[in-house]
Amino acid sequence: MNIENMPKIVLHLHLDGSLDIKLVEKWLKEDNVNMSLEDLKKQLQVSKDCRNLNEYLEKFSFPCSLLQTKEHLYEATYNLLLNLHNMGVIYAEIRFAPSKHIVGGLTYDEVVKSVIKGLNTAKKDVGIFGGIILCCMRDESKETNLKVVELAKKYLNDGVCGIDLAGAEALYPTANFEYIFDKARELKIPYTIHAGEADGINSINKAIEFKTKRIGHGVRAIDDINTMNLIKEKNILLEICLTSNLQTEAIKGKHPLEDLYNYGVNISINTDNDTVSGININEEYKKVLETTNLSIQDLIKCNINSIDYIFANDETKNKLKNILALSLDKC
Ligand SMILES: [Zn+2]
Repeated sequence: MNIENMPKIVLHLHLDGSLDIKLVEKWLKEDNVNMSLEDLKKQLQVSKDCRNLNEYLEKFSFPCSLLQTKEHLYEATYNLLLNLHNMGVIYAEIRFAPSKHIVGGLTYDEVVKSVIKGLNTAKKDVGIFGGIILCCMRDESKETNLKVVELAKKYLNDGVCGIDLAGAEALYPTANFEYIFDKARELKIPYTIHAGEADGINSINKAIEFKTKRIGHGVRAIDDINTMNLIKEKNILLEICLTSNLQTEAIKGKHPLEDLYNYGVNISINTDNDTVSGININEEYKKVLETTNLSIQDLIKCNINSIDYIFANDETKNKLKNILALSLDKC
């Protein structure tokens, strides 16, 4: 068993941050835009030595500007899922913020339907399982965020599998967004919350108070034993993104994923943004093996454990568990 053919579960991956560079080249060609590969990479990817949140966030404006048509949204989703399938991913939840894709004139429904079409076509063509998470944004109004929650309800079990809260965590504290998760619970929509990335344990504690079962990043939990205990006690899973955390300086120095894992915190390994971070899931797994004492068996166990947290029905969960149990046997 090697990393490439190990079946993997991806839970934290942003669509706009994971655009295939070849696909973007194709789009630019179709629009008669001349841009060298080098310039294109500069627009889409952080530099190798990025240790700065601002540089990281700047890399989302160009891809977002390209994702303003039904075709591009469809193609981007389809292409991403195919790439994931080729890397051994058997289940992926792709997230994006519908409110950032309506400036070109699309309606919310058109945006979501285009992404779902990409998901369904990929499933039909290569058999990859997955779902779409709609992100509410910290910089959007309450009205817009509630609209996204309603949209998630409308397409739940029809491609959409849950919601998330994303955006500048330090500027807009998690505490301000209780209304999103109250509504989500009322409508029985599963959710995850970005917390403990750019902000500290208060943000994580709020996410826990909002009864989340999954936290995007959550790495600052390492700063407080009580928060770590609470995460364990409440059986919460942390969606860990090692490379991204180092690039945004959420973590300076050694990443705490190994300490969290050894302490008994449930973790899943993800890239956050394949293109912006300039990494793919297999490279991320290899980085974990190279920089920690975790073994390939540990990574398989993390994947098996993650299945209990995916936003899917029991039938899908059982299918995935069987595939992963077989791979553990082969080790
Ligand atoms: Zn994220």
